[in-house]
Amino acid sequence: MQGCNDVPSETFDYLVIGGGSGGIASARRAAQYGARVAVVEAARLGGTCVNVGCVPKKVMWSAAGIAEALHLAADYGFQVDGVRLDWPRLVQARNAYVARLNGIYKDLLDGSRVTLLRGHARFAGPDAVTVNGDTWRARHILIAAGGRPLVPDLPGAQLGIDSDGFFALTEQPRRVVVIGAGYIAVELAGVLRALGSEVALAIRGQTVLRSFDTLVQEAVTGHLEAAGIALQRGFVPAGVERRDDGLAVLAADGRSLAGYDCVLWAVGRAPCSDELALELAGVGVDADGHIPVDAFQDTTVPGIHAVGDITGRAPLTPVAIAAGRRLADRLFDGQSERRLDYDNIPSVVFAHPPVGSVGLTEAQARAAHGEAVRVYTTRFTDMYYALGSHRPQTVAKLVCVAPDERVVGVHVVGRGADEMTQGFAVAVKMGARKRDLDDTVAIHPTASEELVLMR
Ligand code: FAD
Ligand code: NDP
Repeated sequence: MQGCNDVPSETFDYLVIGGGSGGIASARRAAQYGARVAVVEAARLGGTCVNVGCVPKKVMWSAAGIAEALHLAADYGFQVDGVRLDWPRLVQARNAYVARLNGIYKDLLDGSRVTLLRGHARFAGPDAVTVNGDTWRARHILIAAGGRPLVPDLPGAQLGIDSDGFFALTEQPRRVVVIGAGYIAVELAGVLRALGSEVALAIRGQTVLRSFDTLVQEAVTGHLEAAGIALQRGFVPAGVERRDDGLAVLAADGRSLAGYDCVLWAVGRAPCSDELALELAGVGVDADGHIPVDAFQDTTVPGIHAVGDITGRAPLTPVAIAAGRRLADRLFDGQSERRLDYDNIPSVVFAHPPVGSVGLTEAQARAAHGEAVRVYTTRFTDMYYALGSHRPQTVAKLVCVAPDERVVGVHVVGRGADEMTQGFAVAVKMGARKRDLDDTVAIHPTASEELVLMR
């Protein structure tokens, strides 16, 4: 059978399902080694991160930061009365930026001589994939199909939107209920609030970001409330109704949040493994639909590999990219031991102010090392807010382990945490000791200097 580009089947060394973060990175790296590579993409190039994830989110977070700076500007003596946000214009400019990136990804694939197959990929066997009725064979197949937002199966849930729907909003919602307590709930609730929406955040527990260190949980929860977000604790969603005054979210305990014009679900993501006909390849999935892989990103079927969100391991863009590139190094450059080390992966939650975190939480360290754990914490007001009436505290924690106080965790909530964490992640990865931080001369006046001055 001939493929859509008139390339005979059985042509490719490497067929990659998914033109997102992991797929594109792995495909291009393999092509650099001379492999004949194809990427199959059903939607827009760049995947979640570029189209409905990191990139448009960061643009909105930056817009929110400008709004916050405008509030602070008056305390610094500026006259900024009458400034207002033109939401449609912001969205239009953001979309144009994303469209430019889509084009750049296409150029990168072309420049690397990677064949792009547009359409939906399904397995036809362990070494065969169909796209638009054409069958393609490859020595190696990479599944990098990512995930999609989860909307719970509750009455009226479809009256709400998810994070994809957030990025499709052409008008700013006036009153929003955000449901969830993870990265996306915290980030989007914060953005909406900073840009002027009235926001309620419904969480099942008592704090947000429950997988993070308690210091982070408490600080971010406090900052959300200080920003004017109405936090609804212990709120287990049971359904959504349309009423005369707008949307109402119902809780299992009988509470309701009524009169909203937007309900935003941010309760996790599901892997896009259900439409791949994996059973025809013999690839299994776990209870959540993720594809289990070993340390080398291999599935149980020889020649079939998986990276990124679909594996359920650390669903972050740089993780998908790093795993994809290392896999290509191993498969097509003979680097037989090349694989991603999943320990000490840093991440940032783009809250207001942001969170930076790497390594073990205090609780994880105590579970692993018991009494040997020593913790250092600090709290202070960033000098940026010195003249302001709103003065969010910066908090930071170093988690160290005796006898030589190896730093196994760094957690920061505060202005600049997004940019300072990468460098500390290098130190943690290299096995830095507390005394290495003590021996490093501070940079003054900064917030990051506090991390080398803790006692
Ligand atoms: P994806 O990037 O999702 O790519 C998968 C691609 O496969 C998609 O383009 C999809 O269309 C395609 N596809 C699926 N099935 C098929 C098929 N059968 N045939 C053909 N194509 C198919 N991570 C960060 O590191 N930092 C952040 O700030 C950040 N912010 C985020 C904000 C939001 C709102 C969201 C939702 C996610 C965010 N993430 C962030 C997570 C990040 O976007 C993902 O971890 C990353 O995109 C995963 O890459 P991937 O290659 O596994 O999948
Ligand atoms: P998360 O897994 O981070 O958070 C979802 C949270 O929603 C859960 O932790 C849970 O919190 C809550 N939840 C789950 N089910 C329900 C329910 N039925 N009702 C109410 N609450 C519920 O998922 P996200 O969708 O926020 O993000 C997905 C992933 O994408 C993240 O884990 C992250 O890896 C990545 N991402 C990264 C970003 C970044 O790097 N800045 C930004 C955005 C996403 P609880 O148990 O406390 O109720």
